[in-house]
Amino acid sequence: LDRLWAFMVRLRLPGGFLTAEQWEMLHGVTKDYTSGTIKITTRQTVQLHGILKRHARPTHQAFNLAGLDSIAACGDVNRNVLASAHPDVSPVHEEVYQTAVHLSTLLKPKTRAYYEIFVGSEKVAEKVEEDPLYQDRYLPRKFKIGIAIPPQNDIDVFANDCALIAIVENGRLIGYNVGAGGGMGATHGNSATYPRLASLFGFVKKEDLDKVVYEIATVQRDFGNREDRKLSRLKYTIDRIGIEVYRTEVEKRSGVKFEPLKAYTFTQRTDDYGWAKNHEGKWYYTAFVENGRVLDENGVQFQTAFLEIAKSRKANFRFTCNQNIIVSDVKEQDRDFIETILQKYNIIQHTAKSSVLRKSAIACVALNTCALALAESQRYLPSLITKIESLVGKYQLENEDISIRMTGCPNGCARPYMAEIGFVGTSLGHYNMHIGADALGTRMNKLYRENLDEADILVELENLLASFANEKNGNEAFGDFVMRKELV
Ligand code: SF4
Repeated sequence: LDRLWAFMVRLRLPGGFLTAEQWEMLHGVTKDYTSGTIKITTRQTVQLHGILKRHARPTHQAFNLAGLDSIAACGDVNRNVLASAHPDVSPVHEEVYQTAVHLSTLLKPKTRAYYEIFVGSEKVAEKVEEDPLYQDRYLPRKFKIGIAIPPQNDIDVFANDCALIAIVENGRLIGYNVGAGGGMGATHGNSATYPRLASLFGFVKKEDLDKVVYEIATVQRDFGNREDRKLSRLKYTIDRIGIEVYRTEVEKRSGVKFEPLKAYTFTQRTDDYGWAKNHEGKWYYTAFVENGRVLDENGVQFQTAFLEIAKSRKANFRFTCNQNIIVSDVKEQDRDFIETILQKYNIIQHTAKSSVLRKSAIACVALNTCALALAESQRYLPSLITKIESLVGKYQLENEDISIRMTGCPNGCARPYMAEIGFVGTSLGHYNMHIGADALGTRMNKLYRENLDEADILVELENLLASFANEKNGNEAFGDFVMRKELV
């Protein structure tokens, strides 16, 4: 490799949780070895950019000392396991978080190569490393698991290869509705590729969950397309062999029969900003971090504030799939201390004054760090939102929580196909516009216009918002209005 090559490192962080000690280490690594931004991803972890080759080992060694790793954060393996982030209402959050950690460990590759290469462990290359799941061939493509806890769908559960919905009865977690086949990626100009929501198979008791999830992965391992990487995600396997065949094969391999689905209701997909208290009396502050970029800039000092909080050891940290941070597990007697820091560095003010529209928007990294990007995303969306804020103000729609998502290419890392208004980059300065998804992540949008530049985007949006303001029914959401009026 060229010595000037720089790397991106992404952490394996099931449920998005970091202790105060781990945050302090993450801050140090970011300062010493990276371009300086802690980037919260849409899959509840962080990635650090600009790590020079000579800094790759010290970075991983520091993570290792803090009990963290980057194993399976990329590649044809099970990726970071998501879990609903906000523990404000339900006592089952801790149990679901532990399930996310357990599944992440269960499906983690068994090879020690990561430790040999990056941490400096003893070489074991001459030994055969057994891996019953990945064997000698890994999966055909990446594999993603997410666990939602209704009524929150903050993780966009149906976007995952393996979709798990926690079922709680009388305050107790009894099991999960299980589905498979979600995935966002598509390729411009290739009609064989498409985004898809997961199909639900049925309910399983919580003690049977790991067997079922494991075999959903093995069926994909054995039936997935290994000829064409563009058609190798589980969603294509399930559409090729059929949902019933896939589900029956999982039942046969796991020895677990799916029961009929249990009832559940989603009422929210966005994060609850500000302070909330959980069932044990601990406090949580959800801070708005635009597009997940943790920096000190524009008068808001996220890095300084979170380092100060971490050094106090009075809180932990949890990332959300909406690219925000929850300062978590704050004791009653420490709440004022944390609040003072959040005020001092303008985080509470920033969260309070940002518009509803801005706080619901998410963007992938795209240019200048993602090699697949065709257009800007996180560097551009904030200025586009400012212009859209003017439009919603003009039509008195300031309180409408319309989800807007942008990606720099059709891979869909920010799940643009599940946004009420989704922008997918086609070339520099140009985007396909998709509209009509619901606000809760249960219906995808459809392509509305192709290859728009900013001027065209604003014209199209103004027309849509003017109609919405004049013709919506009561509390009708924008995406539902689009579908009722058959605009796509
Ligand atoms: Fe993902 Fe494409 Fe965005 Fe890169 S440009 S982060 S591949 S959606």
